[in-house]
Amino acid sequence: MEKNSVCKICRRIGEKLFLKGEKCSSPKCPLVKKPYPPGQKTKKRKTGLSEYGKELREKQKLREWYGISERQFKKYIKEILAKRGKVKDTALELIKKLEKRLDNVVMRLGFASSRAQARQLINHSYFLVNGKPCNIPSFEVSKGDVVSLKKEKQSKPFLKELSVTLKKVQPPSWLSLNARKMEGKVIAEPSLTESGVPAETSSIFEFYSR
Ligand code: SF4
Repeated sequence: MEKNSVCKICRRIGEKLFLKGEKCSSPKCPLVKKPYPPGQKTKKRKTGLSEYGKELREKQKLREWYGISERQFKKYIKEILAKRGKVKDTALELIKKLEKRLDNVVMRLGFASSRAQARQLINHSYFLVNGKPCNIPSFEVSKGDVVSLKKEKQSKPFLKELSVTLKKVQPPSWLSLNARKMEGKVIAEPSLTESGVPAETSSIFEFYSR
């Protein structure tokens, strides 16, 4: 992917989606420097979206925040809608599914600075789930699962500082982290509040029920 192409997603949506790790909190963030959509000549953002436009925007925000494809996102929605009746809060159920993806867990535990980096590490077989290799970023963890960085990967030069940085990480309360052992455990269910998603989750299902 082109160097700043993910930043265009934030500029198009008009909000920081924190897709680039440390850069997002620095003055180098392109949305700070250019707070208008890419390719637009006037520097003003269009206002007055239709109801459909607003729902679409919220859906896009959530999908891009977790960095997943439209196909995968729709699959989650379908799974939840199929359980409608048994599920009290569909929006919360969706957040739980998204939070329990292995790429998100790896990032939340502090092994990666963004979900994109987490996906890259998982694809390159850096992690074990319950002692077994897992290279599927969409793998859904469950309560009790242990996610650990493979021993042989811990000496990689770019991960040298990890033992120090992990000590400063404060994962959400549904995860526990053992920085010394470089492993984390799922100890509860994710919550909407701790997910910090920037989207209005209640409008997502309205969008798909049109
Ligand atoms: Fe790029 Fe991060 Fe800024 Fe978004 S928040 S524009 S991903 S640097």
